[in-house]
Amino acid sequence: MGCGSGFTRRDVLRAGSLAAAGFLTGARLGAQAKKGMRIDIHAHLWTDDYLDLCQSYGNVDTGTQRNKGAGMGQAEMDKRFALMEANGVEMQILDICPQAPHFENKEHAVNAARKANDLYAEAVSRWPKKFKAFAAVPLPHVDEALKELERALDQLKFVGATIETFVANRSVADPAFAPFYEELNRRATVLYIHPSGNGIDSPFVIPFNLRWAIGAPMEDTVSVMHLIEAGIPQKYPKLKIVNSHLGGMIPMVFQRLDNISKWEHPLPELPTITAKRMWYCSVGHGHPPALRAAVDSMGADRICLGSDYPYEGGELYNRAIQYVSESGLKSEDAEKILDRNAAYVLGLA
Ligand SMILES: [Zn+2]
Repeated sequence: MGCGSGFTRRDVLRAGSLAAAGFLTGARLGAQAKKGMRIDIHAHLWTDDYLDLCQSYGNVDTGTQRNKGAGMGQAEMDKRFALMEANGVEMQILDICPQAPHFENKEHAVNAARKANDLYAEAVSRWPKKFKAFAAVPLPHVDEALKELERALDQLKFVGATIETFVANRSVADPAFAPFYEELNRRATVLYIHPSGNGIDSPFVIPFNLRWAIGAPMEDTVSVMHLIEAGIPQKYPKLKIVNSHLGGMIPMVFQRLDNISKWEHPLPELPTITAKRMWYCSVGHGHPPALRAAVDSMGADRICLGSDYPYEGGELYNRAIQYVSESGLKSEDAEKILDRNAAYVLGLA
């Protein structure tokens, strides 16, 4: 078992210098963790084998996931666990996106979903105190997605499911997916939604090398609005939907949504009220104004701690956790985000 095998000397030195600089104090973080459970709800793991499979099925962007330190090797795990422990993070919830098995070819989708879930089942069984996982599902193939969901939740004991903001270039609110939402709602489980890397299918995103810098948060924004416009959070009230990256630009346009939707797309409920029926991960690349806007808009109860590991790795991982308590939020709000909300959403509190 490699879990918690400890810090490398370099990590210890780094944590020590951070503590000395007042950025990170083990005592403070430890005290918070004891009150709840510090869970990083947005983290990834991929192996070259899985990425090779996705590439062979037509995914063109697997390079974004390769050589990022998010594999299963012991050295990679030691680094990951050292960062988690230095920041009081007890557990990460693994998410296969943006390499979800949303392939048009049914056989490919089913095979990749099984491979993804078997991979994560192995990670969870090797490091059970460090990881739990979201189920990959072979949507847009609904019957097959329901079968794999059942296997992943009942046999593999995963803590929810994950899909991308666009599912094989369909909206997350595609009416054909209703049976999938019904089943998630029946189980009162979690659906984590993560960008796909499709640049919202705009000719002005990927050709300008903006797939991840702004394409991903634009995907988050559009996906959240599709859910709101379709009334999915109201239709499936037991389902807990967690959107990525503070909901993209949603906090910035919060009032605009209510004002403009009145004439552009009248809804039975104000969009900002529906938005508050969902949750959002805290990944904001350590930018305090973004976190404050999300807390001021959706409420501190709706933000769950996330890191987007390995994309916020190393010093960025420290920052992803620290900025929650260093952004000028009320201490009880910071504590909810750090130690309570994810555990509540996942039923691990
Ligand atoms: Zn991510």
